[in-house]
Amino acid sequence: MNDLVGDTSAQGYLASRGLGPSALVTYRLGVVRRPLAGHEQYAGRLAIPYLTPAGVVNIRFRCLQPHECDGHPKYLSADGAGTNLFNVLDLKKDSPFICVAEGEIDTMSLSLAGLPAVGVPGVDAWQKHFSRCLEDFEVIYAFGDGDKAGSKFSSFLARETRARPIRMPPGDDCNSIYMKEGANGLHRLIGE
Ligand SMILES: [Zn+2]
Repeated sequence: MNDLVGDTSAQGYLASRGLGPSALVTYRLGVVRRPLAGHEQYAGRLAIPYLTPAGVVNIRFRCLQPHECDGHPKYLSADGAGTNLFNVLDLKKDSPFICVAEGEIDTMSLSLAGLPAVGVPGVDAWQKHFSRCLEDFEVIYAFGDGDKAGSKFSSFLARETRARPIRMPPGDDCNSIYMKEGANGLHRLIGE
């Protein structure tokens, strides 16, 4: 599936989100160009693997078309896949704090900015045992988007994990701040 190196439309999309060539390698992003039988619904989608020390445990597939997805989901999960925390490799980083973001691209944006981060697609994807993965950190920051669902996400995490909700400007998310202000914009949100 990893035809991304020669795929200029997907590269253009990723560059527009601040994900350059090194991010493609780090996160092993791909595009599904020749889906296996039964996987046709993933064709043309960005493949975001869930990397762990034991290998890839899940993959989510994001629509790359420049439309408001109507009639199909923006994200698809692999058939039969469970719910996993995204970017657990960051749990091994030497840091007193960990960030939790809403969505994979926001998680990558934080991590690329030098803020160790894990992510879930939304509150509904949260599993009780995820809290244990965060226990050893002195501080947990919850980065919901700057909208109603985002503040629900942050206050949910505050209850589940003692996370500190980060105030996000209205209409922004980690990726939009990373694009507009670079790493500094995200560091400023947690007062680092
Ligand atoms: Zn779509």
